[in-house]
Amino acid sequence: MLIHRFVKYDISMLIGSLLHDELVQVLDFYDSIAGDFSAFEDEFGLHCPPRCGNCCACFVPELCHGEALAIAWTLLENGVDVDWHAGDGACPLFDGVHRRCRAYGVRPVICRCFFSSAVRGKDGLAFNGCRLSNQPGAMIHSLGKEALESASSPVPVMSDYGERVRSLSGYEWESLPMDEYVPRLMEQLRYTVSLLSGPVAG
Ligand code: SF4
Ligand code: SF4
Repeated sequence: MLIHRFVKYDISMLIGSLLHDELVQVLDFYDSIAGDFSAFEDEFGLHCPPRCGNCCACFVPELCHGEALAIAWTLLENGVDVDWHAGDGACPLFDGVHRRCRAYGVRPVICRCFFSSAVRGKDGLAFNGCRLSNQPGAMIHSLGKEALESASSPVPVMSDYGERVRSLSGYEWESLPMDEYVPRLMEQLRYTVSLLSGPVAG
């Protein structure tokens, strides 16, 4: 069977590969945690101003294998072109015109947790407010241990989510910058699809 390079990628094309199984697990994990942050955010008023995105404009996340795989697959599936070498310090997935993430549904754990979860330090839990936004309405102050311990909703902790997503990556424990990891995995995914389905034209 000949697969055209502009083929519509579908996850079923990966069935039979380890990448498929890991991808399904990561997507399921993201689904399972989607509602974990809202009660905490609501209780402490942690809501980003509309069209802010200043964090994305100055940060390139490091990803574990599963996080990079989910992004790589989603970009292929949706035919999204990314300039991996812009070199402007922004996340390559950040759409600076519309101030949005181009792969929001599969954004990595740090992006889900930043400004929406606590960190665990030697003195217990702490929350560091966001100081990156220059827009009115952004909450920049921090929350201390007492406030977090008296929270009526469960307090999400960033490192717990990081450990959980890394545990889905089997023996692949390396973390790499997004602009290095995702293009590499996109190539691997294309190759895997061609092996499983036939040669890629063009
Ligand atoms: S308020 Fe902070 S966390 Fe939210 S989008 Fe702006 S810079 Fe990012
Ligand atoms: S992956 Fe998306 S949410 Fe995370 S820094 Fe990049 S553009 Fe922002």
